[in-house]
Amino acid sequence: MKLNPKKISACFISLLVFLISFSISCENQQTETVDTETRWWKGNLHTHSLWSDGDHFPEVITRWYKENGYHFLSVSDHNILQQGEMWIQPEFNHHAQSGGGIAVFEQYLEEFGENWVEYKMVNDTLEARLKPLNEYRHLFEEAGKFMLINSEEITDVHVVHVNAHNILHFIPPQGGATVRETIQNNVNAVHHHHHETGQEMFPHLNHPNFHFAVTAEDLAHIEGLHFFEVYNGHRGVYNYGDDNHVDLDRFWDITLTLRLAHLDLGIMYGLAVDDSHHYENSMDETALPGRGWVMVRSDFLTPEHIIRALKAGNFYSTTGVKLRDFGVTDGEYFVEIDPEPDVEYTVQFIGTSKNHDISSRPVLDENGEEMRATRIYSEEIGTVFKELTGTKASYELTGDELYVRAKIISSKVHPNPFAEGDTEVAWTQPFVMER
Ligand SMILES: [Zn+2]
Ligand SMILES: [Zn+2]
Repeated sequence: MKLNPKKISACFISLLVFLISFSISCENQQTETVDTETRWWKGNLHTHSLWSDGDHFPEVITRWYKENGYHFLSVSDHNILQQGEMWIQPEFNHHAQSGGGIAVFEQYLEEFGENWVEYKMVNDTLEARLKPLNEYRHLFEEAGKFMLINSEEITDVHVVHVNAHNILHFIPPQGGATVRETIQNNVNAVHHHHHETGQEMFPHLNHPNFHFAVTAEDLAHIEGLHFFEVYNGHRGVYNYGDDNHVDLDRFWDITLTLRLAHLDLGIMYGLAVDDSHHYENSMDETALPGRGWVMVRSDFLTPEHIIRALKAGNFYSTTGVKLRDFGVTDGEYFVEIDPEPDVEYTVQFIGTSKNHDISSRPVLDENGEEMRATRIYSEEIGTVFKELTGTKASYELTGDELYVRAKIISSKVHPNPFAEGDTEVAWTQPFVMER
């Protein structure tokens, strides 16, 4: 039998057309279901609503985050999950003075409409239903675009607040005789819940300088805890310390040095979060959304993948500075900034050497009495190894470092700052040198 070359080429072309159309349809299908491209996802891991002491309804808050470029949001109310039947009286809620109250309800009703919002009059008082997460999440969640994470701010004695992320049931505050014991008990409860359910989850320590409740030595001693807030957008939390208390950058370096060189308790990652309480219509600017967030590098936007990426240190924290990339390659710790026009960037590579002076002394009050505060250490803890300006920076590792991390400080004034005059910054995660 002789083959007809024309027939073969026609056959070949139709096969080619089929393959192309097949691959196009595959591509379309893929983008419609999940986004599998490795990319940076923007998220806030600390958010309050009317379920506890935030001043707005969860749907209005979620819409704000989604419309402002976030891909994920942990809803983390105090000692409660957004589950079950809950009615509030907007007129009498305790945020009425700060712009909550009826005005907030009216805004909610206007935005979401009579067919969504549930309310009733009981003895001449308006009552509105707070929707559980599992009801309202369907209005917002989209594969590869936006998701909500079920979290709780476990709010305990000694001003110990621990956020527990992606949990399945409520975790009551565990209590404890001391700050350290209380943090440890709550961290253990989250790990216990994880082992019980097999679900990926993690705890993080909130605002250590709130009431100056937690010291770096406390944080250093907690087993199984690898996240704390190096930045919290609530104006009452003393991110920058005071005369007797270290700022949270130094706090982080002391914690890292103690954990890595002296206690063998592993890394501590630094998170930036909002701790938002006050939303649209609020006259109170104490805890507005949009001040600090994390950018997580992951293939998938699912809670499991985001949490695994966080646990691998594959993220940076920021109050506005955007990065293209950071990491360690060819013996160098590098940072590449995604710059904005007319903004200058200073990159600091910060760390502690393996050989360092760990001696310390206590902070004394005006009567010479020892204060409960992070102790005073030598300048060998948390040294700036190198500082330079530009949009690309690298630091050549010598091998003598215990760890190295980078802080990127921009010249751009933060439009919605924690403190007046703040410029936008970002923190990358520590690279720990093998011993
Ligand atoms: Zn808190
Ligand atoms: Zn909070």
